[in-house]
Amino acid sequence: RIAAARAARDVPCRTRDGVRIEAFANCGSVEDARAAVEAGAEGCGLLRTEFLFLERDTQPTVSEQTAAYQAIADTLSPRPLIIRLLDIGGDKPAPYLPIAAEENPALGLRGIRVGLAHPEVLEAQLRAILTVDSAGPLHIMAPMIASLDELRQVRAVLDRLTAELPVTSAVSLGVMVETPAAAITADLLAAEADFLSIGTNDLTQYALAMDRGNPAVAAGVDGLHPAVLRLIAEACRGAARHQTPVGVCGGLASDSLAVPLLIGLGVTELSAAPARVTAIKALVSGLDAAACRAHAAAALNCATAAEVRALARKFAA
Ligand code: PEP
Ligand code: MG
Repeated sequence: RIAAARAARDVPCRTRDGVRIEAFANCGSVEDARAAVEAGAEGCGLLRTEFLFLERDTQPTVSEQTAAYQAIADTLSPRPLIIRLLDIGGDKPAPYLPIAAEENPALGLRGIRVGLAHPEVLEAQLRAILTVDSAGPLHIMAPMIASLDELRQVRAVLDRLTAELPVTSAVSLGVMVETPAAAITADLLAAEADFLSIGTNDLTQYALAMDRGNPAVAAGVDGLHPAVLRLIAEACRGAARHQTPVGVCGGLASDSLAVPLLIGLGVTELSAAPARVTAIKALVSGLDAAACRAHAAAALNCATAAEVRALARKFAA
């Protein structure tokens, strides 16, 4: 019976009408990667690399980073691994990075802006990733992209290091869509990025101008707000224009009311919390993608997050 359960767990995730949806997990450690595999995750759609950089006095060395990424790649092997470039900033300080205290850290030096302002940090991380010997596909994604220039700058460093190092298989480069600017210009980004991954946590925070960590506004921070939904739709439209795959690695990928809407909008990869992967796979396998598309079209006409959620509950029933 255990063998049968394992076999069922390892069947590629598809909707009832055969649309392939990659069911990935978000990880922040080797333990998470182990839990993800146990839960039947088909890969890691977001490796948060901050764990290596925080609560220490010096920047982790290239070899230290390589060892950490290698351990996670080995745990997931041969599944794909998407490593997110460092996403720290004013709110998650690292003492060895001279980032001045900011009055508004959410709008300051964070995400890819840190790596572009401190090229030695970006370069060390890219070197470490390119040195990983992974049995499965290895991908890189850049957080907090707001402009195509930023993608181009990262691409230039990646290309230079790829030429310099003995890299055996190409490492693709995607961007996170977590600023409204990235969602609105997704067609421009998708022309040059290998994939898009929508970070619905930050996208919601920035679209609604509500701090995702502030309890005073928590009730309003809903990724199914029509404004966020329309930005996700715009990101999917932009990506489709270039046949660039789109995933979701924010909290909406773990939300069973949101999943049919995301699939209906054209998302083909969901990266959920490891503890949610089994449930998300079961949910997806019962969905009809064509019905999801009609459902998403209706949701885009809803006036409030409450209306979207009511519609989604009706769809689920
Ligand atoms: C997001 O913003 O949705 C995301 C996945 O990144 P993080 O939660 O790490 O900011
Ligand atoms: Mg984010």
